[in-house]
Amino acid sequence: MAKSDVKAPVKVAKAASDNGKAATPAAKAEITIAEKLVELFRLQHVDSQVDRIKVQRGELPLEVQDLEDEVAGLETRLKKLQDELGEMEGQVSEKQNLIKDAKAQIKKYEGQQAKVRNNREYDSLTKEIEFQNLEIQLAEKRIKEAKAQIDGKKAVVDESKTRHDERKKDLELKKKELDDIIAETEKEEKDLQKKSDTASKHIEERLLSAYHRIRSNARNGLAVVPVERGSCGGCFNAIPPQRQLDIGSHKKIIVCEHCGRILVDEYVVARVKEGK
Ligand SMILES: [Zn+2]
Repeated sequence: MAKSDVKAPVKVAKAASDNGKAATPAAKAEITIAEKLVELFRLQHVDSQVDRIKVQRGELPLEVQDLEDEVAGLETRLKKLQDELGEMEGQVSEKQNLIKDAKAQIKKYEGQQAKVRNNREYDSLTKEIEFQNLEIQLAEKRIKEAKAQIDGKKAVVDESKTRHDERKKDLELKKKELDDIIAETEKEEKDLQKKSDTASKHIEERLLSAYHRIRSNARNGLAVVPVERGSCGGCFNAIPPQRQLDIGSHKKIIVCEHCGRILVDEYVVARVKEGK
C-alpha cells in the first residue's frame, strides 16, 4: 500500500506533462501507428523493387550453375578418355619398338649364319630367327587390335569433345546474358538494398520479424498491401466496411483476415509514394 501511495503522484505528474506536449494521448498514439504503417509500407515498396530485379534475372543464375556443373563433368570425362587413348597409343609404340628390335636381331642372326662352322650352329640360329619372326607376327596382330580400339576410342573422344564444346559455348552465352543483366541492375539493386536496410532500422524488431514472416509465406513477396476498392491488395478478398474504417483510423495494425497481410489505406500509400 505504501508503494502505490508513492507512485500515484508521479503518474499524475507524467500524464499532466504529456497533456502539455500533445493535444490528447489518443492523438499521439494515432501518429505513432500511422508512422509505423508508413515505415512498413516504405520497406515493402523498396523490397518489391528488389524482387522485380530478381524476377528479371529469372532462372538464369540456376541455368548457369547447371551448365557449369555439366561442363565440369564433361571435362573430367574427356580427360579420362584422353588418358586411356594415350595409354593405348603407348602400347602400340611399345609393340612397334619390339618389332624393330626383333628385326635387328634377325639381321644379326643372318649375319652370324654366314660365318657358322657347322650345321648345329646354323640350325640353332634358324630357330632364333623363326622365334623373332613369330614375335613380330604377334606384335603386328596386337597393333592391329589396338588400332581398331584406338579408332573406336577416338570416335568417343570426338563425340565428347563436340558435346563439351557445345555446352561450353552455351555456358558462355548464358553467363554473358546474366552478367549483362547483373551489370545493368547491380547499382540499382545495391541502392535499393541500402534503402531497405535504412527503412528496416525504423521498424521495431517485433514488427519487422512479422513482416519478414508474412513476406516469405506470400508467393508474390507482399507482406504490406493497400486496400483497393474495398478489397485486400494481396488476396483480393473483400474487407468488411467496419474493418476498412479501422484501417483508416490508424489506431492499430490490422491484417487481412483471409491472407494475414498487413493492410494500409490511401493515406499511407500516398505518404510513401511522395517520399520516394
Ligand atoms: Zn488478403
